[in-house]
Amino acid sequence: MSDLLLELNALEKAYHRGRPNQINVLNGANLDVKRGEIIALVAPSGAGKSTLLHIAGLLDTPDAGEVKFQGEILNSMSDRKRTAIRRREIGFIYQFHHLLPEFSALENVMLPQLADGQSRSLAKSRAAELLSKVGIAERADHRPAELSGGEQQRVAFCRALANAPKVLLADEPTGNLDQTTSEQVFETLVSVVRQTGLSAVIATHNPQLAAQMDRTVTLKNGLLE
Ligand code: ADP
Repeated sequence: MSDLLLELNALEKAYHRGRPNQINVLNGANLDVKRGEIIALVAPSGAGKSTLLHIAGLLDTPDAGEVKFQGEILNSMSDRKRTAIRRREIGFIYQFHHLLPEFSALENVMLPQLADGQSRSLAKSRAAELLSKVGIAERADHRPAELSGGEQQRVAFCRALANAPKVLLADEPTGNLDQTTSEQVFETLVSVVRQTGLSAVIATHNPQLAAQMDRTVTLKNGLLE
C-alpha cells in the first residue's frame, strides 16, 4: 500500500474566467499528503486556502489538474462514487461551525452516520464516544445556540470524524475563537487526529499552531511551497 493518501496535482482554478476581472487563484498547485501526516496550510487571507481545501474535499472542481485519493483520480469518477468518498473518507471543518440549529450536539454528530446508512443505536454510541473524546460529553443534549464558540467547534470536529474518515480538511477551524479558546480547541483537535492516525490539512494564520503540525506548506501566487 502506498503511503500517499491524497495527491493534488497541478491544480488550477480561476474565478470570473475569461472576463477582464479574472482572478487566478491556483496556478498549478501540488501537494502530497501521506497517511498519518498533519500539514499546516499557511497563507494570508485571500490567497486561496478555502479554494484549495474545497477542491481537495470534493466540494468544488478545479479548472485543470487532478485530485487523487488512494491512487484513484477523483475528478473523472462518477458523481455517486465521489459523493460516497466525500461522505466516508473526508472530514471537513469550516471556520464557522455550520451545525444544524434545531438538533442537539449528539444528533448533529449522528446525522452523517445515519445519512451513510448506519443504525441509530450505533450512530448514537459513536457520537457519544466522540463528544467524550473532545471533552464535551455533558453537552450532548444541548443545541448549538446553547454552546460556546469553542464547544460548537468541538461538535463540528466530532461531526467531521463521525464516519471515520481517512483525512481531515479544516479551513481555519479556530479562526473565529479568542486566542485562549483557539489554542485549547486546537490542542484537542491535533491530539485526537494523532491518536486516530488520520491525515490532516489544516489552514491557519497562527504560526504557533502551525508549529504543532508535522510540516507547513504555504500558498503563494497560486502555488504550494
Ligand atoms: P482564503 O481562503 O485564503 O482567504 P479564498 O480561497 O477564499 O482565499 O479566495 C481566494 C481568492 O478568490 C480571493 O481573491 C477571493 O476573493 C476569490 N474568490 C473566492 N471565491 C470566489 C467566488 N466564488 N467568486 C469570485 N471570486 C472568488
